[in-house]
Amino acid sequence: MKVLYVCAELFPFLKTGGLADVSAGLPPALQALGCEVRLLMPAFPAIASAVNSTRPVALLPDGPLPWGKAPVLPTAKVALATLPGLKMPLYLLQAPALYERPGSPYLGPNGKDWGDNARRFAALGWAAATLGQGLDPDWVPDVIHCHDWHTGLAPAYVRAFADAGGATPSTVFTIHNMAYQGLFPRAVFAQLGLPAAYFDVGGLEFFGQVSFMKAAIRYADRVTTVSPTYAREILDPSQGCGLDGLLRERAHLLSGVLNGVDYQVWSPATDGFLPTPYDIDALAKKSSAKRTLQLSFGLEPRPHALVFGVVSRLTEQKGLHLLPQVIVDLVQAGGQLALLGQGDATLEQAFVDAAIRHPGQVGVRIGYDEVTAHAVIAGADVILVPSAFEPCGLTQLYGLRYGTLPLVRRVGGLADTVVDCTLENLDDGTATGFVFNDLSAKGLLSALRRAFALSRRPDEWTAAQRRGMGLRFDWLTAAQHYLAIYQSLKPGAKSRARVLSRRN
Ligand code: ADP
Repeated sequence: MKVLYVCAELFPFLKTGGLADVSAGLPPALQALGCEVRLLMPAFPAIASAVNSTRPVALLPDGPLPWGKAPVLPTAKVALATLPGLKMPLYLLQAPALYERPGSPYLGPNGKDWGDNARRFAALGWAAATLGQGLDPDWVPDVIHCHDWHTGLAPAYVRAFADAGGATPSTVFTIHNMAYQGLFPRAVFAQLGLPAAYFDVGGLEFFGQVSFMKAAIRYADRVTTVSPTYAREILDPSQGCGLDGLLRERAHLLSGVLNGVDYQVWSPATDGFLPTPYDIDALAKKSSAKRTLQLSFGLEPRPHALVFGVVSRLTEQKGLHLLPQVIVDLVQAGGQLALLGQGDATLEQAFVDAAIRHPGQVGVRIGYDEVTAHAVIAGADVILVPSAFEPCGLTQLYGLRYGTLPLVRRVGGLADTVVDCTLENLDDGTATGFVFNDLSAKGLLSALRRAFALSRRPDEWTAAQRRGMGLRFDWLTAAQHYLAIYQSLKPGAKSRARVLSRRN
């Protein structure tokens, strides 16, 4: 089974969030199950500068198509590349006019979306679909697995080729976050090279705009998202971000596959960023990571202070607007806070202010830093993830592995992975953290209080730590689900003529 894995981020080269971790973890697991996987990514500088070697494959076709004109794009080429540590080939989409820009793959230096994002990511979808049409005659995928709105037009182009009578691969689209949809003004549609009929409420039109996310949900053969609970939640208007109706219509093609963790990167026994490695059998050594964290965040090195950690984008999605409201309670109860994050300017300021108000008890690092992320996950006693919505969430999974009890809201993947320390759950040995329901300061406070209460019962605390550390959310399990999905799709009709190769 040949799988083309299409994405915009890849750890450790280019990462803005969990998507990069998924792109690093899932493809090797698919490979281990016998899939022949290749990646396709834009040649963002962080990727292009890391590749070892490239071999040209082809120019992206720009000639007429059976249904009209090809996408209007600057010259774009596909090359086959290798990346250090990546055990599979990478198709690099080279279009300097689109991708040779520093910083975030999505945002300009002013923090706003690049004005030509529609074309930048239409090119990615177009490259995927044309690879599916034999752009590289040596390797034609059976399945194109696309991730997030950046790749959303790939299934639409594939469908257009299929409608034109071509042999096409199957398409799978994975939603990592419904809140980011790739919405663009109607005027861009004419440049996308899609059949005119697709700009329709039954196609990719979303209230007069072009929606890349809607295109993918509409035209992909299968849609998945990153946890079973989120797969149910997005069928509801409260979390469907306006696409719940379409998702309900296609619910028979939708499933939730829980993300995995790359335990080679996230394991306290082998974590090179930690001063003293520790594991389930040497938990006392976790105190060394805690002390290091306290010192580096300017916290008083009190061994018995309950340290709450945050590693997060600072957005309303993450529920972190609740945290400043309870910091006084947290500190008064003897707790400390170590927060690493960046994002919303108001939230950043609120945490900086809290650190000033509570010197020695609240430490804040505004920014994005992988090493510090490991220090917080390992050194904290509790990792806070009070999200308003959470497709899967990774930091609570990292917390579990590090004996850092997650404190989460009962939503999305958080609900699927953390078991609350109720008396019953403690009693039957299933508890792994603290879970609250209401998206309110009161709700968060109730969970904080349970964390303090459990910290006064050290044996039960240790039991919850051990239980969490023993759990595994491995990529092989997720990959088995994806493979079953690929296998349920029609086999690629490889022998039939491809629309593109006929015309070019
Ligand atoms: P999302 O993808 O919505 O941001 P996830 O929990 O799925 O949330 O994944 C977040 C990933 O980004 C994790 O690997 C986490 O460690 C990392 N991360 C988030 N914020 C930071 C930061 N400020 N510095 C370093 N890593 C971060």
